[in-house]
Order: sequence, then structure tokens, then C-alpha cells
Amino acid sequence: MKCGVVGAGVSGLTCAIRLLQQGHKVTIYSDKFSPDTVSDVAAAVWYPFLTNPIKKTNKWGLETYHELTKMSLIHPESGIKIRKGREYLRKYSEPPGWSIGINGFRILEECELIGEYVFGWEFDSPVIQMNLYMPWLKSKLERLGCKFIKKNLIELNDIEEKIVINCVGLGARQLCDDYNVRPIRGQVIYLKQDPVIGRYDQQPETLTYTIPRNDVTVLGGTAQLDDWSLEIRDEDTEEILKRCASLWPELDRNKIVGMAVGLRPSRNEVRLEIEKISNKLVIHNYGHGGSGVTLSWGCANEVVKLLNDN
Ligand SMILES: Cc1cc2nc3c(=O)[nH]c(=O)nc-3n(C[C@H](O)[C@H](O)[C@H](O)COP(=O)(O)OP(=O)(O)OC[C@H]3O[C@@H](n4cnc5c(N)ncnc54)[C@H](O)[C@@H]3O)c2cc1C
Repeated sequence: MKCGVVGAGVSGLTCAIRLLQQGHKVTIYSDKFSPDTVSDVAAAVWYPFLTNPIKKTNKWGLETYHELTKMSLIHPESGIKIRKGREYLRKYSEPPGWSIGINGFRILEECELIGEYVFGWEFDSPVIQMNLYMPWLKSKLERLGCKFIKKNLIELNDIEEKIVINCVGLGARQLCDDYNVRPIRGQVIYLKQDPVIGRYDQQPETLTYTIPRNDVTVLGGTAQLDDWSLEIRDEDTEEILKRCASLWPELDRNKIVGMAVGLRPSRNEVRLEIEKISNKLVIHNYGHGGSGVTLSWGCANEVVKLLNDN
């Protein structure tokens, strides 16, 4: 069948690959392509964060975890590497539901805790270098015969395909009048220094992370709801460095090599469902918040399943 995928972030590219692998003909329509999407700014570590509903995101997340892990072994050129990471918490918490499905998960010993943290866990996680991963996904699509058209859609009826996969992220506000999709601003700093083990405090109010990518370590972050600013803010930079240094005292500010800002497409829950719009079958797949990369392959599998079932 002929499918039109709208959006060329990680969600759109991943869905397009799965559809092509199922034998469909796919054209991707998007007003922006890599390196100009939110997905290009993702840090990016596999870690479900700022996303709902938990039961579904755990399932999509685990499917993605295993796909990314496999790809890190078969296609190291994709920019995916498995690294150890530690989450530090200020109070006891039940381990997350996904913890039983991933590699290397364990609760930290008391002697491994730092500062005022009283609990924590360690796990092996795919870390994705988006400046390699996005072009790698695109070249895979080209080999599979995907077409790309640069176009800003005013409505989903603007394309000829009868099957439409809607992966527009924040663009759903205009395209679907869905004002439940709201930006959560994220600022990050790139540092040429490796902490060996990634360190995280993923509570939205104290959000702190040092993500050891191959090229740089990504320091974050901010999670500012309804903030549309794409400017780098000095006060955010200072706050990020201060918080990261509390997790990683050896952090050397002289090794900063860049900064970036992106707007996470948050929603009360990911919208992954079918809608019939006039003569089209639309499958929506947007609103992944801080977990678009983490959920990408699981959501793409679900898109294909919805299409096959209808
Ligand atoms: C600082 C930061 C750090 C992050 N870290 C992580 C992380 O470590 N792990 C993780 O999993 N996630 C992370 N995220 C979240 C992740 O980046 C997003 O969840 C993900 O990029 C969403 O992907 P998407 O493809 O759904 O949307 P996008 O990447 O926003 O893509 C949307 C696409 O739709 C197109 N579009 C929109 N409207 C239209 C229209 N009307 N017509 C045509 N095209 C349209 C856009 O041009 C774009 O190509 C982070 C985000 C930020 C900002």
C-alpha cells in the first residue's frame, strides 16, 4: 500500500523503515529534515522520561531497548553504544516496571551513593549519538526506496496517500488542533570529557544528567513547560553545570565545546491511535515528550500492527 509519513524526526523515520520492511511504498513529507528537527537535539539516552501512559510506554520502551541494543552490535556506525548509567534518588522508590526487561539492572550499594542521595540503581543503556543516528536512519530509508518531499502540511488531506502516519510532534498543535501537545524546553551542554558511567537524577524538578556519548558527554538539563524559547540562557547554563558537578565533581568547565536547546513534544499521553479523516486512514504517533528516541521502535511496531489490523 502507498503510505504518507508526515514528519522526519526520529518517530517518522523509524515508522517509515518498518513500513518499507513490510513491503509498503513510503513517502515522507516534512517541513524540516535532519539536522533541524527536535530529534537532532535529543541527548540521547534510552530512558523512559516525561512520558505516559506507563503500561504502554514500558512495552514500547522495552521493544526499543532490545532493537537499539541489537543495532549497537550489528551496526556500530549507527552511533549507538551501550553504556552503564546510574540513577540517584532522594528517597526510596520502587524500581521502574521496565527494570526487569533490561540488562545489568541492580540496586546501588549504600557505599555507591553520593551527596544527599539515599537510593539509586545502575543499568546498561543504549546511548545514541543523534548526529550519526539520524543520517544513518535516512541512508537506510534511501536504500529501502523511500521518497522524501519537503512540504509544510496545512492539513492531513494535503497529501495524496490514503494511509497517513502522523509523526509531527509539536506540529500537531496546528495540524490537528491538539493543544494537549505542549513544549517542554530542554537546554544541554556538550563537554569533551567522559564520566565513564552516566549519572542521572531524572526527577523533573531537579533534572540532572551526564550522558556519555562517543563524541561528547551531554550535560543537562532543563524541563520548562510552555517555554518556547530556543535561545541559550546563561542562567540555565550555570544551573546545569552546578547540578552536574554535584553528581560528577571532576567535571571540567574548560572542556565545554557547545550547547543546544530543543522543545520536547509533551502530551498528557502519547497519541498512538487510528482516526478516519474523510477518505483517509490516519495513524497518529506523536507526543512522546522526553522519550521519543526511547519509544521509537516500539511505537513503529505498534503503527504497523494497527495498519495490519484495519
Ligand atoms: C534537550 C533534549 C534532550 C532529550 N533527550 C532525550 C533522550 O535522552 N532520550 C529520548 O528518548 N528522548 C530525548 N528527548 C526527546 C526527543 O528528542 C523527542 O521526544 C523526539 O525527538 C520526538 O521525535 P518526533 O519525531 O516525534 O518529533 P520531532 O523530532 O519534533 O519531529 C517532528 C517532525 O514533524 C515535522 N512537522 C511538524 N509539523 C509539520 C507540518 N505541519 N507539515 C510537515 N511537517 C511537519 C517537523 O518538521 C519534524 O520533521 C530530548 C529532547 C530534548 C529537547
